[in-house]
Amino acid sequence: MTRTAHHPSDALLLSHAAGRLPAGLALVVAVHVERCARCAAYVGLLEAAGGALLDETPPVEMHADALAHALATLDAPPADAPAAALQQGPPPLPVGEAWPAALAGSQVAPWRWIGPGMRYSRVRLPGDDGVIVFLLRLAAGKYLPQHAHSGREFTQVLCGSFHDGRAQFGAGDFDATGAGVHHLPVVQSDGECVCLTAVQGRLQFDSFYGRVLGQLAGLS
Ligand SMILES: [Zn+2]
Repeated sequence: MTRTAHHPSDALLLSHAAGRLPAGLALVVAVHVERCARCAAYVGLLEAAGGALLDETPPVEMHADALAHALATLDAPPADAPAAALQQGPPPLPVGEAWPAALAGSQVAPWRWIGPGMRYSRVRLPGDDGVIVFLLRLAAGKYLPQHAHSGREFTQVLCGSFHDGRAQFGAGDFDATGAGVHHLPVVQSDGECVCLTAVQGRLQFDSFYGRVLGQLAGLS
């Protein structure tokens, strides 16, 4: 497991464990937790505490066929399951890298060229909760033009590293920025960088180039 410097905050992990995050944001946290022993242990504790709370809740009277109905629901495929959920295989990653298991329920589009050394893939989850989820695969030295967002932006680095003027983020690192933060993520020289990002609201690019890029990728 990679040494991780940036983790979701405890409050964010609590929201995640309680199932209070929109699906798109929760996916990025789940991918982090899958690859971070520290956060996995913390979420495990929270979930165990949540389970204990449920155990203390007085039982409610259930309809006679409730169990049969619940079992039938478990057996049936979800009505809105993405047909091709990774069945055709996700797009290729740099050699030696593997897709996180948490993405298995999502539909990952093939890499789309958005500029020299820059590729983009839209990730779709069942249901639309106003969060755009996408993957960026950028070559060393490339950057995502300076931008801000109208809501929260969560990013998990799958491989490679970038610096956004605030800090360096490497493989396994998680970053959460809020509305109004302007940042310019630049990929470092140690190879390609692949990031999973979820954005609530829209991205607002500061430059003309950024706006063109954003329109190409359907982000702004
Ligand atoms: Zn962590």
